[in-house]
Amino acid sequence: MQIKQVRKVFEPYFLKAKELYGFNSNIDFKIDLKGYSTIGQCIWRDKKNFTIRLHLLLLEKYGDSYLHDVLPHELAHAVVYYLYKNRVKAHGKEWKRILKSFTLVDSKVKYEVLQKIRESKRYRYGCKCKDKVHFISTILHNKIEKKSATYLCKVCKDTICLI
Ligand SMILES: [Zn+2]
Ligand SMILES: [Zn+2]
Repeated sequence: MQIKQVRKVFEPYFLKAKELYGFNSNIDFKIDLKGYSTIGQCIWRDKKNFTIRLHLLLLEKYGDSYLHDVLPHELAHAVVYYLYKNRVKAHGKEWKRILKSFTLVDSKVKYEVLQKIRESKRYRYGCKCKDKVHFISTILHNKIEKKSATYLCKVCKDTICLI
């Protein structure tokens, strides 16, 4: 999968961000993530220059369905920074609202990736660490839902929540 194809999938989300939030910063892509903890990441130098890092193997394996899942997620981080700098939570209500506004016609494709994560019996939880994903077992997830357990991130000490 080439950067060109990544840009093609990204384009409609980018246009939406421009139209809704006046977002017109430069976004570069790097396909260099490995391992299990981070499936995508958005980093920045300032509000004009962002880099979205993508996961090599996930991109190879799931292609466009991975991109439709991860690109709006990371773009929403860029727009949150653009609008609020670091004044709000990484996966807070501003981020959720912006992500929701990016939803295009690809809910079925998106579902496919979510389904794969469910099949692996892991739920994705987030904390205050930017773009760290905690993969939580079904058993622990059910306990958290029933409020009979909480789970803190060892790094930021934040209570993790479903993303
Ligand atoms: Zn995130
Ligand atoms: Zn954390």
